[in-house]
Amino acid sequence: MKKVISIVLVWIQMSGLPLEFLNQRILLQLVVAIGELVKIDEYILSGTRGKYARICVLLYLKKPVEHGFWVETKGTRFFQTVAYENLMNICYRCGKIGHRDEQCPTKEMKTMSTKKRKHVSE
Ligand SMILES: [Zn+2]
Repeated sequence: MKKVISIVLVWIQMSGLPLEFLNQRILLQLVVAIGELVKIDEYILSGTRGKYARICVLLYLKKPVEHGFWVETKGTRFFQTVAYENLMNICYRCGKIGHRDEQCPTKEMKTMSTKKRKHVSE
């Protein structure tokens, strides 16, 4: 077996996150679905990529890597997708790091998976 890295520090970009959610207290709770909030960067306005919020998160690699997290407020609920910076080999199929979806060894076993994963159509 290869030595397994269990924690990784990553920057996450969240496009279209409403500004009022870019708040330490709120994000601490929301980001639990992904990992542990370390630092909030500024809200970035980019001409080419639109605006996005940038946060630094500790990912626990024992848990599957999530596409994003649910944001619930009074009356509304939406799924905030996240983009992981400099984390090239993420498999959104099994949630592991080290290979891409198309190389996923668990591809055939997808229907046998008993993991509770949120499925979001895009
Ligand atoms: Zn995989």
